[in-house]
Amino acid sequence: MKKHNFYAGPSILPEFTIKNTAQSVIDFNGTGLSVMEISHRSKEFVAVMDEAQALFKELLNIPDGYSVVFLGGGASLQFAMVPFNLLNKKAAYLNTGEWATKAIKEARLFGEVNVVASSEDKNFSYIPKNYSIPKDSDYFHITTNNTIYGTEIRTDMDSPVPLVADMSSDIFSRPVDVSKYAIIYGGAQKNLAPAGVTFAIVKHDVLGKVERAIPTMLKYQTHIDKESMFNTPPCLPVYAALQTLKWLKDNGGIPAMEKRNIEKANLLYNEIDRNKLFKGTVAKEDRSLMNICFVMNEEYKHLEEDFQKFAASKGMIGIKGHRSVGGFRASTYNALPKESVLALIETMQEFEKTKA
Ligand SMILES: *Cc1c(COP(=O)(O)O)cnc(C)c1O
Repeated sequence: MKKHNFYAGPSILPEFTIKNTAQSVIDFNGTGLSVMEISHRSKEFVAVMDEAQALFKELLNIPDGYSVVFLGGGASLQFAMVPFNLLNKKAAYLNTGEWATKAIKEARLFGEVNVVASSEDKNFSYIPKNYSIPKDSDYFHITTNNTIYGTEIRTDMDSPVPLVADMSSDIFSRPVDVSKYAIIYGGAQKNLAPAGVTFAIVKHDVLGKVERAIPTMLKYQTHIDKESMFNTPPCLPVYAALQTLKWLKDNGGIPAMEKRNIEKANLLYNEIDRNKLFKGTVAKEDRSLMNICFVMNEEYKHLEEDFQKFAASKGMIGIKGHRSVGGFRASTYNALPKESVLALIETMQEFEKTKA
């Protein structure tokens, strides 16, 4: 039976990425070697790294004055690397969920952290609005898509201080005005590549302003200067990332992805709103296009496990909600076909017929 992969991360990747990456494990670009056993300094691999950086820039229209670097350590290491490189005295953070909370915890190791607003009062079910960002902050940090709670900031805001964004779970899902950001980072395993590589888009002129000593590996400048080759990069995940970038380009680029993502999300949210059994968990205006969270209405709560099993019997994988929200979460990343969303909707409708 066809599986419909709704996992939140690691998560669905284009078949194009998986097939080409599998092929490169056996024979990398006709070299007779596996991509796992070739030097990262070989001209063949250097070409992969160069092309990945170039396509990353092309697809997101990244202006001059920025570098794209591929690192290890996950988005979680960026929670520390950002303040290590940017925080002199004070930073401002928006608390929209568990990942933001973790980022705040790390920043506090480096200086004063001002949480300008938080949606923790309502279990992170909305994006706070109408807060002010102190102008003496070294930077302002946001999490654009809250993977666990299913809220998303889908506009590029104006910030009076350098804006830093964790875009782990919505990078490449919509066009982004990169010029409004100082740093955009994320783990690749939600919308780009297998786990093991982390990307950071870094504006050169925000660096070099802190007084502390920064260990070489934790310094953005090191990786910018060496074009992500200071040490051995995660070669296989970078190769896979390049395949996804090619797939994005061949499929109409980011505007086309956004159009598809809006269509998929609208279909599913409409069903959640219509179906008697289910309801959404977050403020409608803040609904994420990438992680769609829903629960069963009070009178049907006892059926959650039944629905889980019923959905599994129909090939739905990974729709169990995160433990801090409960219920269900369907992640609808770029690579998830509309067909999978339609199959989930049909499953919800069938279940409704038998229970409501
Ligand atoms: C998954 C996720 C992270 C954590 O990423 P790791 O690569 O596992 O460290 C951080 N932020 C967001 C928004 C995420 O979705």
